[in-house]
Amino acid sequence: MSERAHLRLATLLLQPAADVPGGFASATVPVHRGSTVLFNDADSFAARGRRLYDGYTYGLYGTPTTEALARRLAALEGAERVMLAPSGLAAIQLVNLSVLRAGDHALFSDAMYGPTRNAALGLLAGLGIEAEFYEPGAGAGIARLLRPKTRLVWIESPGSLTMEMQDVRAIARAARKAKVQVAMDNTWATPLRLRPLEMGVDFSVQALTKFTAGHADVLMGSIAVADGALFRRLRDVQGMLGTCVSPDDCSLVLRGLETMDVRLERQAKSALEVARWLAEQAPIARLLFPALPADPGHALWKRDCRGAGAVFSLRLRDASWEATRAFADALQLFGLGASWGGVHSLVAAYPAPPARRFAGDAPQAPLLRLSIGLEDPRDLIEDLRLALRRPPKPTKGKKT
Ligand SMILES: *Cc1c(COP(=O)(O)O)cnc(C)c1O
Repeated sequence: MSERAHLRLATLLLQPAADVPGGFASATVPVHRGSTVLFNDADSFAARGRRLYDGYTYGLYGTPTTEALARRLAALEGAERVMLAPSGLAAIQLVNLSVLRAGDHALFSDAMYGPTRNAALGLLAGLGIEAEFYEPGAGAGIARLLRPKTRLVWIESPGSLTMEMQDVRAIARAARKAKVQVAMDNTWATPLRLRPLEMGVDFSVQALTKFTAGHADVLMGSIAVADGALFRRLRDVQGMLGTCVSPDDCSLVLRGLETMDVRLERQAKSALEVARWLAEQAPIARLLFPALPADPGHALWKRDCRGAGAVFSLRLRDASWEATRAFADALQLFGLGASWGGVHSLVAAYPAPPARRFAGDAPQAPLLRLSIGLEDPRDLIEDLRLALRRPPKPTKGKKT
């Protein structure tokens, strides 16, 4: 203290405290907030570019908190490195912008998440990148769609809303043979159920927003890669875009990771119980849930996934929007809203899934998606039973 005694109070307030006791070993990862990273001397500052891929140079490229999350996710994915993005959708675009250039061709499963599809047609098309949608069941047949200009194949299994399983290995094998990179949106299964990098996928993408964070209070995405060169390219593009994640948000995702296995286990068990019950009910036409033996994707699910997810879709026998809407509105224990994978059960009602190139088994009919939370499944079933019995009401009475 004494050597600083000559400093004025305003300056003293800004001096680092030299006498804080050390030895605080917390069981949790501390939150390191910081944009500026301090260097010991001008030479190391001038050479900071050397630390771009490992180490700290500026908050944009990570802090010990973001790095702790990235490394824990890398262990979960069996990955060399993990790149974080401010949302699941941002992670998907980061892959696209890292791999694709004007004149390139990219293949997307026809059952992909709606905003991924919109970005392929909007953002990518505007950059001179041609996006083509392929039939989700293509399997090894994807080889016939590969062109000299094809650079990337996207997989999402099961597909958003319509839940078609894809043959990940067969698609990845065919693409790799043609030296085309493969990306997979693995949000539904999470790496606890399926590890894409082990199946020949180059970029394993997750919306951490869903099961990993698990409490509907944070948005984040991740990209896991087995190849350090892919990570460096992602880092370069991330730096050029200037997208990063906040250490506070990372700390929420780190907390979510600690309970993810037990949450997913319990929620998937409840989802199976609820889905089996629904399958027996007269007003239900069809459940879209690969974990059920009657689902056309069941064999692939059984082969590739180490357990069920907790999200599935259904169609009512009365396929009118009126009936679909009334059912969603009548539910009391299910919140009505976008996203899924949190501890609270949710329902989302869609007049129709996004327009598809291959209608196949997915007609443009109304659809409901349920995300099963941590409530007692008996209460959820009772809520569903009452909602199925309730006659349609003319107006919506739900939150907002
Ligand atoms: C929600 C979701 C995303 C996007 O995640 P956000 O964090 O909401 O941007 C991507 N893919 C799938 C399959 C999703 O369900």
